[in-house]
Amino acid sequence: MNERLTFNRHDGEAWPAPWATQHAHFIKRFSDVRHQYWSEPLVELKGGLPRPLSFDDSVLSGMARKAAQVMRHTCTTCGKPGKVLRLGGAWAVRCGRCCGKTLLANQIQDLADALDSVSDFAPFGATAVWHEHDLPMLLRSSIPSYCWRCTVPPGQEPLRYLAREDIESLMPWLNKLAAVMNDD
Ligand SMILES: [Zn+2]
Repeated sequence: MNERLTFNRHDGEAWPAPWATQHAHFIKRFSDVRHQYWSEPLVELKGGLPRPLSFDDSVLSGMARKAAQVMRHTCTTCGKPGKVLRLGGAWAVRCGRCCGKTLLANQIQDLADALDSVSDFAPFGATAVWHEHDLPMLLRSSIPSYCWRCTVPPGQEPLRYLAREDIESLMPWLNKLAAVMNDD
């Protein structure tokens, strides 16, 4: 397992490590089959996803197709089996666990952005509130229950909400959470 991780993508950028490992593996397989040293990329990145490059050599083309196929089923974050999905407006390959972590980190960022724009544009004295159902599910369930305020509209179910200052005081903790989600 001492394969090169230094292969760059077709456009010169570095591959995510799990993809670099697989790419190197298929290059090595080709080199073994042909007893020939090969150092060029087999795969290019199109719209965020690996796509096989085509070659005159049918064995090389086959390796490129197989490499792209395996990479499209490999989480770029942890290397476990993953699926192609939309994340933050782009195509990505993630396992369920890493997808949840990226989603939560994005949702925290969206909340921080919303808080900024409310601070900038809310009319003087206006109170900004976020009702429980305004927040996406993952983010909502990450907020400790004691942080919520509660109101009971006449004849209705209790309604949980956060005021701007609640979110402001939660933000340092949420930012730490987002950093952990992004790092791990
Ligand atoms: Zn993963």
